[in-house]
Amino acid sequence: MSGPVEPRDAACEDEALAGVELREGRQAAVGGMRIARVLPTKGRRTVGAWCFTDLILPADALEPDPMEVGPHPHIGLATVTWLLDGEAVHSDSLGSEQLIRPGQLNLMTAGRGIAHAELGAPAPLRGVQMWIAQPERTRHGDSAFEHHPDLPRIVLDNAEADVLVGTLGDATSPARADTPLVGAEITLRPGATRIPTVDSFEYAVVPLEGRIKVGADIVEHGWVALVPPGAADLPLDVGAGGGRCMLLGGEPLGEQVVMWWNFVARDRDEITAAWRAWQDRDDDRFGPVRSQLDRMDAPAPPWHRSH
Ligand code: MN
Repeated sequence: MSGPVEPRDAACEDEALAGVELREGRQAAVGGMRIARVLPTKGRRTVGAWCFTDLILPADALEPDPMEVGPHPHIGLATVTWLLDGEAVHSDSLGSEQLIRPGQLNLMTAGRGIAHAELGAPAPLRGVQMWIAQPERTRHGDSAFEHHPDLPRIVLDNAEADVLVGTLGDATSPARADTPLVGAEITLRPGATRIPTVDSFEYAVVPLEGRIKVGADIVEHGWVALVPPGAADLPLDVGAGGGRCMLLGGEPLGEQVVMWWNFVARDRDEITAAWRAWQDRDDDRFGPVRSQLDRMDAPAPPWHRSH
């Protein structure tokens, strides 16, 4: 026998992912869809710059409600739309109108303000809606919309990963990224895989299909595993049926975000100003959206007094 002692054993792997926290998502109804919100979660508002993650759950097979989200505004964030089943049309105040299908990315950057609507085809829809908080450097800037039908894919032991935004291993998405981050969909076959990490990134693993083992912890659908920075890599494993998950990660944002309704800002006054601009139909800030759906009315912020 020669050579060094095997550098990793099972105990070390568990040790390397010692900070993993599991959190259960909260189920709700949004725009006719059942969703499970896994971010923000109790005590955790962001993972990297990722600040919001809704899993769109399979609709009632007998009476599927179509996705109907009428024109509504956003500030200070980028929306990332990723479908698993079905298709939907995005329209926004920049004049974009874009059909999206599974495996394609819609990325809408709000900056100072944008408005959009989403209409699903009358068929079962499943997917993930995510938000990325914009950093101070870009959050007061122009809005933008991108559609990417082709995304880079990396092949790992027992897994393949489609890179939606940012960088995973040696693959970088063509999509805009305002902060160092990654968003990827990982398809897992039975057997262990190791996902390459960046030392300074924190991560979230969100199961889409099957139960995913992250280090020593098993994560159920509707839950999220939070992994602190410093992991040398991310050991994932699935059962005989395989699995699929989202991997979200990035450098901790380092800025305190305030989120309310569809707005991401840094304080309540900014949110109140955005709310007022939407309710006053300030087209300079949000612009009109061509849509057959009704414009959404914004509820008053709870801290606002109308007299
Ligand atoms: Mn939206």
